[in-house]
Amino acid sequence: MENIRVRFAPSPTGYLHVGGLRTALYNYLFARKNNGKFILRIEDTDRSRYVEGAVENLIASLKWCGLNYDEGPDIGGAYGPYMQSQRIDIYQKYAQELISKGYAYYCFCTPERLEALRKEQQLQKLPQAKYDKHCLHLSKSEIEEKLNSKIPYVIRLNVEPNQKIIFDDAIRGTVEFDSNNIDDQILIKSDGYPTYHMANVVDDHLMKISHVIRGEEWLSSTPKHILLYNYFNWEKPIFAHLPLLLNPDRSKLSKRQGDVAVEDYRAKGYMKEALINFVALLGWNAGDDKEFYYMDELIEKFSLERVNKSGAVFDIDKLNWLNAEHLRKKPDDEILSMLKDYIKTTEFADKNFSDSFLLNIIHAMKERVSFVHEFVNNCKYFYEEPKDYELKSVEKNWKDDTPELMKKLVERFSLLNNPKKEDFEYALNKIAEEHNISKGKLIHPLRLAVSGQSTGPGIFDILFILGKDEVIKRINIALEKIPQLL
Ligand code: GLU
Repeated sequence: MENIRVRFAPSPTGYLHVGGLRTALYNYLFARKNNGKFILRIEDTDRSRYVEGAVENLIASLKWCGLNYDEGPDIGGAYGPYMQSQRIDIYQKYAQELISKGYAYYCFCTPERLEALRKEQQLQKLPQAKYDKHCLHLSKSEIEEKLNSKIPYVIRLNVEPNQKIIFDDAIRGTVEFDSNNIDDQILIKSDGYPTYHMANVVDDHLMKISHVIRGEEWLSSTPKHILLYNYFNWEKPIFAHLPLLLNPDRSKLSKRQGDVAVEDYRAKGYMKEALINFVALLGWNAGDDKEFYYMDELIEKFSLERVNKSGAVFDIDKLNWLNAEHLRKKPDDEILSMLKDYIKTTEFADKNFSDSFLLNIIHAMKERVSFVHEFVNNCKYFYEEPKDYELKSVEKNWKDDTPELMKKLVERFSLLNNPKKEDFEYALNKIAEEHNISKGKLIHPLRLAVSGQSTGPGIFDILFILGKDEVIKRINIALEKIPQLL
């Protein structure tokens, strides 16, 4: 394929929606796979929706995910500016071109007239309200006069009735619309700003976009865009409409059922690799069962042909699983640096844990966590003495003879010199043997004493990581505190 140029064209709402991330990612993958260009264009022509900092936020989220674009508002490019609000004159010029050819016209109708028209059409039970082309029939002099007297106006698309608008969508196949169902869309609003349709088509043309890859919600806008391309006599890009994202109950993905902003997932500790991997599979697969991907492999495998038509269900369990998988496959030193960053945000920020201590925790916990923060929050006992003891386990495992056995362990452990995991194990086994008891009779209460919990990594790993002195200290504390719970 030659001169592939695709764009992600968000309207800045304040954050990057996961659906937006999916659109951006598919555009990015398609561009990278085909040696094309990936462009970021900000569609900010709706001034009523202006949100302070929204563009910066969006760019930050894209960059965090590694979706680097080749042209965009902050880096420029040959077809800029890339913020539509800075291109108003361009749209005006093209609107005038359409007017001169009779494909667009001034409309001076007041909001009151439009409202009355809408009500009337409602009474007639028309399927949808449509403008009645009233102003299309104004004479040249009437238009001049109204423009001179500064009567507010919009510019509308002159949709020719009784036409079939047909196009091939790379994902959905042949799509057909009836022009009788298309309103004379406003192209330029009364504030002089273009609507989405006008700006989108003009820019896709001027920026030489070859493929328009976007969400299914824009499919119904496409016939209007096709009309514009026809009226301008411009070559049309290839359209590819991505399937909707759905909640598990198959309703449209919404804020009500969970987070939708990329930054929320980031804040919750999801890693970009996992999020990208997850989002890539929302509507695409390589044709096999493989689910774990790095970005490079996605680029290699991606194709529009393998994007599904049907809605893609957003399954948070799968995202969690992928996060765990990506985390486990990371080298220890990377996990270590992430863990240190995380610790800085916790109550342990001021404590100085050594790298080797943290690496030991990482080794012990790696198979048991899905998130970096769980290296702390699922095993706080590594970082501080247990604050309390799991009551169920106390009742089950702290028997009358337990204190005696724990004291024996303390005695035996004290004799050890810089013990490794095996040394603790050997010492414990010895006591079990001598007292002719099962190891469990020692291990369960010992785990409770040193960690406060009944589950976790292997007990001897815990003992080794805590070290002999800390283990002895904790057993002694437990000997005092646990009986008070019974
Ligand atoms: N500005 C539109 C949006 O917010 C872009 C749709 C398109 O890609 O054409 O999603």
